[in-house]
Amino acid sequence: MSVEVFDPHEAIVGSFTVRRVLPRRTLRTVGAWCFADQMGPAEVTETSGLDVGPHPHMGLQTVTWLMHGTALHKDSLGSEQLISPGQLNLMTAGHGIVHAEEATGTYRGTLHGVQLWVAQADGQRGGERDGPPAFEHHAELPAVDSSVGTFTVLAGSFGGVQSPAGFAPGLVGVDVALHAGTSVWPLRSDFEHAAIVLDGEVRVGDGIARPGQLAYLGTGRSEMRIEARDRARLLLLGGLPFAEPLVMWWNFVGRSRDEIAHAQRQWLDGDGRFGEVPSRLARIPAPDLLWRTRPEA
Ligand code: MN
Repeated sequence: MSVEVFDPHEAIVGSFTVRRVLPRRTLRTVGAWCFADQMGPAEVTETSGLDVGPHPHMGLQTVTWLMHGTALHKDSLGSEQLISPGQLNLMTAGHGIVHAEEATGTYRGTLHGVQLWVAQADGQRGGERDGPPAFEHHAELPAVDSSVGTFTVLAGSFGGVQSPAGFAPGLVGVDVALHAGTSVWPLRSDFEHAAIVLDGEVRVGDGIARPGQLAYLGTGRSEMRIEARDRARLLLLGGLPFAEPLVMWWNFVGRSRDEIAHAQRQWLDGDGRFGEVPSRLARIPAPDLLWRTRPEA
């Protein structure tokens, strides 16, 4: 079976260099998953963490999942939540929200995690992208232990267990901690799938993937075969192919440039749409719209 392996590119988020593997020119989404950053491993202190100041989102859900360390989430709904490995933060932006990721005040050590975005479906199709914002913290998630490793279900259902997190149907996200060896996992053939390697090296079909890389499996597979020479950790992402054309710009997911430009203007003007979050970090201004100064390539 043919598997494509993609390298991440580096980006700066707050005070962290991240390895971004979605979106990319040739692969915009995997199911509704539209963004994937791996943060660290890097050292943080009590007063210096991810350090991402208040910024807005719309039309998407953010998923924070840590392999190591602790981070602090704050948002305009009044949420203030520490997160540790094994726990899930799910923030639903809907029509608009603001959040910040700060140092914890208590934790010093290594921080390693991922932040993922899920594009919300259009309201006309029964989706929630124009709906109200929300925040969920799940202190525990269901997991399946087997002889090949441990499968923790972040989104949707896998191996007979269902995540309690509030995602739209047609999505799956699983953290997989593998022992050395070969395993075959069942997949929904109507889903598109990819695996992001967090630790170790794995062979997925005919591709070899290392930390930071994404192995793209596409649709139409009823199973996937993984070979780990040593222990490995990866994130399996999948879902029904996202049919709606997306316009992604900065922290916004929309359907048109007009819609994005409107949101950008509202954030710059301090419009009440996105709300406010108290933070010791500075509010992040929206950049200029690329397409005003540079026609679409
Ligand atoms: Mn954010």
